[in-house]
Amino acid sequence: MPETPALSVDSAVAAQAPSCRPDAAASLSAPGADMALALASAYQASAAEQDFMRQALEQAQLACGEGEVPVGAVVVKDGVVIARGYNQPIGRHDPTAHAEIVALRAAAEVLGNYRLPGCELYVTLEPCVMCSGAMMHARLARVVFGAPDPKTGACGSVLNLFGHGQLNHHAEAVGGVLAEECGGLLKSFFAARRAAAAQARALKNGMLNP
Ligand SMILES: [Zn+2]
Repeated sequence: MPETPALSVDSAVAAQAPSCRPDAAASLSAPGADMALALASAYQASAAEQDFMRQALEQAQLACGEGEVPVGAVVVKDGVVIARGYNQPIGRHDPTAHAEIVALRAAAEVLGNYRLPGCELYVTLEPCVMCSGAMMHARLARVVFGAPDPKTGACGSVLNLFGHGQLNHHAEAVGGVLAEECGGLLKSFFAARRAAAAQARALKNGMLNP
């Protein structure tokens, strides 16, 4: 049975921190990724938008360093980053602690407001249904994501909640910004984790069958 494509945040069961080195040459090979990426890559990001995504990537590196699936996010208001977050469901024992939720909570704290009008969120991976819903509740103006997520993406890959007129009257969603770097980080993370698991199995078998 083929191994599950390594892009779903929900698959996070990391017990150790594998390599956090992004594989810039990596491309996303999961079913649907090419189409989603083609749609997402139609958007041409400005230098400022790419810089915000690089700051989100720095957050993703922090997640990787803690053995969490490397996804990072920043919230921007009036051209300034006001809050950051990275994926931490394992460390926090919290299934909602995706990078976007952590960043949204921090931004709401900074602004003293449960709504975030005029704010933009940059995240390295296409948001899931939960995070997209939270952004709509926050009245976020815009979400910009990096790599598409063909497993759980709710901005066009699996669903398109932001394109649903009855659900969303506020936020715009665009993707594909630094998609190769964002996806490469995830790919190298899961590749390292698979290699570590294979090594552990080999060691165990060696001990059982010397
Ligand atoms: Zn999410």
